Amino acid sequence: MTEPNDPFWVENRAKFLAEGSTSADPSACGTCRGNAEAGRPVEHEGCAQRATLLQAPDHPYYEILAGFSLEENAKLPARFHIPVFDDCGVPNSWLCAVCQEEGVVTGWPCETATEQGTKVFTPLHQAETAAKKQAARIAELEAETERLKAELASAREDTTFMERNTLPDLRREIEHHKAGKQRWRERAETAETRLSAVLDLCDREQRNAIRWENPIPAPEWVAIVQKIALGDSKPETGGAA
Ligand SMILES: [Zn+2]
Ligand SMILES: [Zn+2]
Repeated sequence: MTEPNDPFWVENRAKFLAEGSTSADPSACGTCRGNAEAGRPVEHEGCAQRATLLQAPDHPYYEILAGFSLEENAKLPARFHIPVFDDCGVPNSWLCAVCQEEGVVTGWPCETATEQGTKVFTPLHQAETAAKKQAARIAELEAETERLKAELASAREDTTFMERNTLPDLRREIEHHKAGKQRWRERAETAETRLSAVLDLCDREQRNAIRWENPIPAPEWVAIVQKIALGDSKPETGGAA
């Protein structure tokens, strides 16, 4: 056991207290926050960073506790048995946040907190690990977002390039095909007109042959030409009447 009045420790203890904290509490005044940012000690003891007491994220709200017996509330998970300072009660005291019933409160540490010990609070280094993991995940997602943005920009560039270089070619090709089709249609129409003219000539020859009192046979070529012009499958329409 160290001798409390050991001059070595008395001196070091005085030095430690005189130095003051270089960490400002979130509730610190502007002067002390400025000091801490510049690496200097805070001016007021009350502005030095204190331990932080947070409730579990799913801490039971009032209605979940009210109407239940002290025994029932004492069985709630250890993480809810944290201290709250009662500054209205006489005397002021630290109470358990959940060990209560109508008209009854329990000082902290309550039986459950004492029994469960370290299960009540999360050690800071574990909380920091979780925070670091979250920060890493955020950084990862930000990087992914940047990557996707770059990908999108590059895809847009590709599209612009394609529009500028490929589409005119495609349009030209389409025009070419359209013109080809038009040429074929014109040729088909010309062929049809000529065929009609040939068939008209055949009809005329047939009519000429029968208009006399004593019809003469139509020329032999008329039937042959009609057969060719209408295709072999078609029945002969002409011939000698
Ligand atoms: Zn201050
Ligand atoms: Zn309790």
